[in-house]
Amino acid sequence: MKQYQLILNAIILVMAFTACGNSPKKVEKKPNLVYVFPDQMRKQAMNFWNDPEFKGAIRTEADPVKTPQLDKFAKESLVLTNAVSNCPLCSPHRGSLFTGLYPGSSGVPLNCNADRPVSSLREDAMCISDVLSSEGYNLAYFGKWHLDFPTPNDPVNPGNYVDPRRPAWDTYSPKEKRHGFDYWYSYGTWDVHKDPHYYDTDGRRFDPKEWSPKHEADMVISYLKNDHGQRDTDKPFALFVSMNPPHNPYNSLDDCLVEDYNLYKEIPINELLHRKNADTEMEKAQSAPFYFANVTGVDREFGRIVEQLKAMGEYDNTIVVFSADHGETMTSQGVKDAKNNIFTEAFEVPFLIRWPQMALARIDNLLLGTPDIMPTILGLMGFEDKIPTEVQGNNYSKAFNNEQGALRPSAALYIKNVNGNKNEDGLVTDYFPIARGIKTHQYTLELTINRDYQLKGTRLYNDDVDPYQLNNLSVDKNDPIVEHLLAELASELKRSNDPWYQNKVLADWINYKK
Ligand code: CA
Repeated sequence: MKQYQLILNAIILVMAFTACGNSPKKVEKKPNLVYVFPDQMRKQAMNFWNDPEFKGAIRTEADPVKTPQLDKFAKESLVLTNAVSNCPLCSPHRGSLFTGLYPGSSGVPLNCNADRPVSSLREDAMCISDVLSSEGYNLAYFGKWHLDFPTPNDPVNPGNYVDPRRPAWDTYSPKEKRHGFDYWYSYGTWDVHKDPHYYDTDGRRFDPKEWSPKHEADMVISYLKNDHGQRDTDKPFALFVSMNPPHNPYNSLDDCLVEDYNLYKEIPINELLHRKNADTEMEKAQSAPFYFANVTGVDREFGRIVEQLKAMGEYDNTIVVFSADHGETMTSQGVKDAKNNIFTEAFEVPFLIRWPQMALARIDNLLLGTPDIMPTILGLMGFEDKIPTEVQGNNYSKAFNNEQGALRPSAALYIKNVNGNKNEDGLVTDYFPIARGIKTHQYTLELTINRDYQLKGTRLYNDDVDPYQLNNLSVDKNDPIVEHLLAELASELKRSNDPWYQNKVLADWINYKK
């Protein structure tokens, strides 16, 4: 009897194997995507750079900040040391992130507000969310969007702007402007961190009266758990979480949680801002403990989202990215503006990505730019052939996978635009491309022009020997190093069809013909 059973089992096993062999190749489960990007979080504001495995990966000291969740996440991620926000400002960064286009092509060359009809995400642009939606994904957006020209379309107060300020900055993005996001819990831009508001998928407004990253993480976790049937569990999901903090103001406990502030409040300002280029005499220096408190709080909320993915068994089938809009100078170089400049504290961003199907636990100096993110992620997800043809960024998924001979950039473009002309109503009708620059692995070069398109100023830093960018080198266009940098700049301006290339700006400096 026993023997008979053994034979029967063997027959069943053989049949099972045969069935497997005849069946079509097993279809791999589509990966999910969770992309978390706080606003003014500089690359240096992560503690793991101080850990032995990362020591020396970036040229300067890291900030004395506590980021235990990111420290853990970094150890199992691909960590980029040289990712940049090419146009380090809210709306232009976001336009490039979603479209894979530079700000001159995405429709978003300037920060969006009601005085700037010239800057609004192109409705006809094919965004990463449009692509993934058409590939059968559930798409969800949480937090700050800041990509649309505000109009008086308050869904709660018809005929009015949602923002009482003039010009209005905050806005409501109606369904037809959401680019494939089928779940929405978002707003335009609003900086009262403990009194945020959100519009949901159907335009209902919520004022939760709590610190925004905490609330957004709660909403993300609820979405992942599908508490209220927010998503179709048969579909993979792709979600973007745009936490506003760290973002000014950072002045008081109105801006962060007390438990996080307590970690920094006793530390002298010059120890918190220990970068050699920091000006601790600036009034802004008093913001340091609040800034780092915001970073620590965001770190915790990011960790909660990761824990939820683990709890539901989706962590290893989810591409998880942590990055930022742009950095924060926080008194470095003595500049007041947190962003919109080429200094490393503003221009460089965190970029950590984890997906077990990639070569992980790795540090890479890839000069990733914002328009590269969309095609690279689509490439990783297996949608290389769905990358829209007009995309200007490059697909670096092979470099992410650490493949031999993969395409790698030699330079990253820097872009600064300001308002151009205004019409009789005071509305900005075009933009002025006031500065362009280039960053290589060793150098940073910036050229600024006046309104007559003449050279007004230069910056040149040898970041290898001067990582705090304290020594602005003189720029001689016949110097071979400068010649090389100008050639890199010309190539990037041409490739991105930048207005400098279109108008051959500073043609006596930049050889556009090559
Ligand atoms: Ca921003």
